[in-house]
Amino acid sequence: MASYKKTLFWFRRDLRDYDNAGLAAALANSDQVYCVFVFDREILDALPKKHDRRVDFIHRSVLELDTALRKLGGYLIMRHNGTSVEIPALAKELHVDAVFTNHDYEPLAVQRDSQVAAQLKKTGVAFYTFKDQSIFEKREVLTQSGKPFSVFTPYKNAWLKRLTDEDLAPHDVEIYRDRFAADTQKTHAPTLAEIGFEPTNIHTLLPAGTSGAKQLFTDFRSHIAEYKEARNFPAVRGVSYLSIHQRFGTISIRELVRIARAEQNVGADTWLSELIWREFYFQILHHYPHVVSAAFKSEYDKLRWENDENLFKAWCEARTGYPIVDAAMRQINETGYMHNRLRMIAGSFLTKDLLIDWRWGEKYFADNLNDFDLAANNGGWQWVASTGCDAQPYFRIFNPVTQSEKFDPHGKFIRKYLPELTQVPDRYIHTPWMMSPQQQQAANIAIGRDYPQPIVDHAVQRQKVLEMYTAVK
Ligand code: FAD
Repeated sequence: MASYKKTLFWFRRDLRDYDNAGLAAALANSDQVYCVFVFDREILDALPKKHDRRVDFIHRSVLELDTALRKLGGYLIMRHNGTSVEIPALAKELHVDAVFTNHDYEPLAVQRDSQVAAQLKKTGVAFYTFKDQSIFEKREVLTQSGKPFSVFTPYKNAWLKRLTDEDLAPHDVEIYRDRFAADTQKTHAPTLAEIGFEPTNIHTLLPAGTSGAKQLFTDFRSHIAEYKEARNFPAVRGVSYLSIHQRFGTISIRELVRIARAEQNVGADTWLSELIWREFYFQILHHYPHVVSAAFKSEYDKLRWENDENLFKAWCEARTGYPIVDAAMRQINETGYMHNRLRMIAGSFLTKDLLIDWRWGEKYFADNLNDFDLAANNGGWQWVASTGCDAQPYFRIFNPVTQSEKFDPHGKFIRKYLPELTQVPDRYIHTPWMMSPQQQQAANIAIGRDYPQPIVDHAVQRQKVLEMYTAVK
């Protein structure tokens, strides 16, 4: 690579000032580096809600990043515009010779990056991109015959076999601290309102920025050894809650994998597997981009979903009458997070009990999950709907009552999100409709008035969905 006088580093899903591959490369190859983050109008204008927790999280993280860069002698230029216009314009304004950034694999981002690269090329500005958000990407982990994997376990084994210490080495930024361009003009940081958004409750739920990620990871490390069992129980603090930080790069994946490996216990090994699932779905999206709109296994595109709008609305609004499903939907609606076990239960219920197309659920999650990631969300939905690679077999259908009994045995999680069921005894917390009128009165609730009757009968729907899947096999 050439050595440049002035370059621009463009932050996107990598909002950190340490161990950042593209930023370290820009600094290593330039005398002076400017940094920019663009609140991208093309993405933001399409969001359905103006109180979007993700935008609030990004805004908080970006402000923290600016402070961190200033400590290193630099600063963050913040713009609110379409990136395909703003990046070439800024490159021109600053007279830089090259723009550096990290890979983003989502189809729209790939398209945007090629537009930006083409614009820059016209004015003689180079464009470099780097692998940063995953350990392995694209075609780096393939079968022995050079084909992409579509089953997780052999992918994981090949991933682990390929891994060396070099893959996990941090990309040091601090050693180049004298190469950051300083702020000579007191750059304005736009407020949330200036980019058209409203404050949310995200700060009460989850700390933002690299400091927030560090805080969560420190807490998680103190109980990572118990992860294998604890991760299944939504009422227990058994998982890391780091998914949003991975999504926006406020923590380094290399750091997470290094520490997971160093722990050497079954909990950490299980957690490392989950990090590999993330990369498994990244590579599925890369090799099989048709999954964005269609089933991984094309025979399942012929499934005849019933797609009842009223049932879908009841699912979205936590009115199915199945407490574990409704508590899960309240969790996503009130916090933007949903525990993995509940994503599986709620997703299975939508597709296999309500017979609604998995893409409807996928879209709802995309609009509402703080950690929404196209590859993981699509992979998760195709897994629950049994249409995907290495998915749940179609005849293995989650029973919302037995799942609830197993993973929230005393209804602690259910009661947290459905306070109307607080006084329902443990025996009926998973099936409140089974209470007699006297029992309902004693529990201070009338089923059908204060909390819905089940909107479908699981046993009946199970038969229907089996027939629906058998018909296309
Ligand atoms: P932890 O249990 O601490 O796991 C650690 C990390 O591993 C996660 O942060 C995540 O990066 C990764 N991970 C864990 N499970 C999976 C998985 N099944 N697939 C891919 N990566 C995984 N995850 C997202 O990040 N974004 C999504 O949009 C998303 N949508 C999902 C939709 C459905 C229907 C399902 C079943 C799963 C989905 N997942 C998604 C995966 C998983 O539920 C979340 O990653 C996890 O719940 C996040 O919480 P955590 O960080 O505490 O997880």
